[in-house]
Amino acid sequence: MFFKGCPLRCAWCHNPEGQSHEIETMVLQSGERVVCGRDWSVDALAEELLVNADIMAQSGGGVTFSGGEPLAQADFVSALAVRLKEKGVSVALETSGAASAADYRRVVSLMDFVYQDLKLLDPAAFSRWTGGSLAQVMENIAWLRGAGVPFVFRVPCIPGVNDSPQDRTAFNAFAAGAPIEFLPYNTAAPAKYSMLGRTFSLTAPPLP
Ligand code: SF4
Repeated sequence: MFFKGCPLRCAWCHNPEGQSHEIETMVLQSGERVVCGRDWSVDALAEELLVNADIMAQSGGGVTFSGGEPLAQADFVSALAVRLKEKGVSVALETSGAASAADYRRVVSLMDFVYQDLKLLDPAAFSRWTGGSLAQVMENIAWLRGAGVPFVFRVPCIPGVNDSPQDRTAFNAFAAGAPIEFLPYNTAAPAKYSMLGRTFSLTAPPLP
């Protein structure tokens, strides 16, 4: 499930349609218009997802909450996760960690697995490239390490931003033996910006 709305504004974001909480329209090159987003109630979405609950429970499959940032809708995700787990469906969270400690802990405690982003390890660089607070993310990661919920760190490798050999060494050291994956940059991202009437530019925002 992709949740719309994210508190960060990563310069390389490959899901620009996931940043705004509002329903948006993408205009494809063919001229076709695609509506991004839909309002759901917990009841309606649980019902939709549970149509395949038996198959998911038998196969060990489940639902991953992604985005955008699912923790920006922590109440909704918590309620939905409880409903799915009652039916034996496993739930996973893909998060930047940019959320309050209370929301992070409440939602992660319900999860069977967490994909935790690692973007940058320097506070000034993190703030400059994402608009967010690394301290908040680090507080949540420190808690995750001892929470007992299985997780993997995921690094989106952004050319010229965090993909040097030194960066990789630093990320591996930070993981300290925890599982870590390095993901190649999604080169389809720029096209999505023009479909939303926005401009893509992978350049560092100016220093304050
Ligand atoms: S955290 Fe993810 S969805 Fe949010 S702006 Fe960054 S890349 Fe985009």
